[in-house]
Amino acid sequence: EMRAFEYQADSLKDKIILVTGAGDGIGKVAALTYAKCGATVLLLGKTQSKLEAVYDEIESLGLAEPAILPLDLEKASFAQMQELANLIEKEFGHLDGVLHNAAILGALTPLEMYDPITFEQVMRVNSTAVFMLTQSLIPLLRAAQSGSVVFTSSSVGTKPRAFWGAYALSKQSVEGMTTIFTQETQNMTALRFNCINPGATRTNMRAHAFPGEDPYTLKTPEDIMSVYVYLMTDSASGVKGQVVDCQPK
Ligand code: NDP
Repeated sequence: EMRAFEYQADSLKDKIILVTGAGDGIGKVAALTYAKCGATVLLLGKTQSKLEAVYDEIESLGLAEPAILPLDLEKASFAQMQELANLIEKEFGHLDGVLHNAAILGALTPLEMYDPITFEQVMRVNSTAVFMLTQSLIPLLRAAQSGSVVFTSSSVGTKPRAFWGAYALSKQSVEGMTTIFTQETQNMTALRFNCINPGATRTNMRAHAFPGEDPYTLKTPEDIMSVYVYLMTDSASGVKGQVVDCQPK
């Protein structure tokens, strides 16, 4: 059972794992946890100072030296993502895992009134950039012994709901990507695509979506790390095309 998986200091030993949105929220805790499990983490995110703070925390714990990759997924071109892949290739030669965690909420409003510019921003960060980055990194993941791509959905990605607008649509798209990439690589034993639905978790995004809610009633990012680590381990090499709910109903 992956939700009860107990990770250890060597669970991800010598793995190289890229985390998007690594400066805050769930991504920050995932990056720190991966480092604590022995991985070299590549910290991708928008706000450089946040990435530097995560870098410093990992350094102060004496863990494998991380790398900082500042990139605005809303503005970044496909060429920039390929450049990033080339950089990783030069430095490390391969990539064992990618956690696509970065996302924006956009507006919670009826589609009839949804601002088209916000719509495009949300689709760009949460879906188009996820596709472009995945495509750019696949050669490096194929070069790994067992490459793991983990997308991040939401309950409204599995089942869209009124007022969740572009966010819900972008997450549906990510679940679709999980299925399509899985089918298209089904003859490759050394590459897998899965998706995590973290469920209600105590972060800034959740607080924006539910301003009236007491954050202390929610589980923390730390509480859901079993699944995040498990999917990156070799024990999960046979797990493919799944949407894993961290908060089973
Ligand atoms: P946060 O808003 O706390 O963190 C999001 C992270 O994504 C930040 O580090 C942010 O960087 C980064 N990011 C946003 N825009 C960009 C961009 N243009 N380029 C690069 N990085 C960017 O969100 P959570 O931690 O709550 O969410 C993490 C994931 O989990 C998301 O995919 C979210 O949809 C999903 N999720 C969360 C739930 C929850 O209850 N928290 C529930 C269901 C799903 P910066 O701070 O620099 O802007």
